[in-house]
Amino acid sequence: MTTVRNHDIATLRQLDMAHHLPAQSSYALQQQLGGSRVITHARGCTITDGEGHSLLDGMAGLWCVNVGYGREELAEVARAQMLELPFYNTFFRTATPPPIELAARLAGLLGGDLQHVFFNNSGSESNDTVFRLVRTYWALKGQPQRTVFISRRNAYHGSTVASASLGGMDFMHVQGGMPIPGVEHVMQPYHFGEGFGEDPESFAARAAAAIEERILAVGPENVAAFIGEPVQGAGGVIIPPPTYWQRVEAICRKYGILLVSDEVICGFGRLGAWFGFQHFGFTPDIVSMAKGLSSGYLPISATGVSREIVETLRASGEEFTHGYTYSGHPVCAAVALRNLDIIEREDLVGRTARDTGPYLAAALAERLAPHPLVGEARSLGLIGAVEIVAEKGTNRRHGKGGQAAPIVRDHCIARGLMVRAVRDAIVMSPPLVISHAEIDQLVDTIKAALDAAQAELASL
Ligand code: PMP
Repeated sequence: MTTVRNHDIATLRQLDMAHHLPAQSSYALQQQLGGSRVITHARGCTITDGEGHSLLDGMAGLWCVNVGYGREELAEVARAQMLELPFYNTFFRTATPPPIELAARLAGLLGGDLQHVFFNNSGSESNDTVFRLVRTYWALKGQPQRTVFISRRNAYHGSTVASASLGGMDFMHVQGGMPIPGVEHVMQPYHFGEGFGEDPESFAARAAAAIEERILAVGPENVAAFIGEPVQGAGGVIIPPPTYWQRVEAICRKYGILLVSDEVICGFGRLGAWFGFQHFGFTPDIVSMAKGLSSGYLPISATGVSREIVETLRASGEEFTHGYTYSGHPVCAAVALRNLDIIEREDLVGRTARDTGPYLAAALAERLAPHPLVGEARSLGLIGAVEIVAEKGTNRRHGKGGQAAPIVRDHCIARGLMVRAVRDAIVMSPPLVISHAEIDQLVDTIKAALDAAQAELASL
């Protein structure tokens, strides 16, 4: 039996139930199942649990371990930085070398006017920074009434009060009195779910028009920013039709509204470009980054900010009264820098665009799309989803909806593949180092899980 920090796995699971409240979890289920599945180690694209089961990690941890597990150089860089300078803050006109270098490096990758970076610890915190920065900007511009954010239903922007309010998850809003005032949610560009059978371009026009309609309803002079994920991840890998983002950009420019791209999942190569906005061809004013920035080896996030916003803050002479103790943590920033080195050295962005992304798309199209339970199998770069339907050729769901995917997911896990269920879809987002053989395994395991689940799903 694997022993970790002097506890065997059975004891760890007992302690988990007795003392640990895991994130985004049902504590009833945790108890029913006898504690969490304890992951003890990982290499490349494979994670191993305390009972010795190995699983292909189809989720890159939580959409984040882009360079894969077991990178010794990231551990070495962390060790060296800890010995040199484990911590110093960036408050009150101090800084340390790694975050300065990382900011410059990110400015180069973001390009254009996105030449400044604010650091935080998580994607949620980055979006809280966005919330305050945007409102501060408009107040300094003499338009303090511009406070409203427009977002989409089923968007995910984090779990803090402001970021969950920006998000469009109703099941999150019911806990804790969210959304807070000043956030408006409009329809998402979910073609399979909300535009089934509709021409994708007329659907894109309809989804973008919903934004403009809401801007006009709220009054354009009151709207501060639009925020969106280039591809919605946690909402079920919603890939918008190709022209959606250019339409959204045009609307934002028409009314002088800031455009915020939440690249927490899409950034750092996931879509086969450094950033999702580069793939879709639009220019945001603010960019939220996290996850792939450090490949999850340490917590760090970054908020990229346009020159215009920074110049407004500078011209005002005001202090931006916002920041976290660990904003620009030197160890996290040093690891992020080396992580970017790895992504560049191994050309993981180009490889995703030209090799593994198309390979995944072809495997989904050939081996999963024809399956009788599959309504749609879509992907972009190395992120994808498989929609499970009750009747081929429709988007009709099993039972009352939302029950099929968890069953299929459990069959995947039992067959050695870690994927997630979002409503009636299986979603995937593997490490960018995944091989063709591992992509075959991922797709074939989902197919076997669908076959195995068929009778169960029919009875829903
Ligand atoms: N934005 C997006 C698009 C995300 O996917 C996530 C996390 N899944 C977040 C923000 C929040 O990031 P974190 O969990 O690091 O706070």
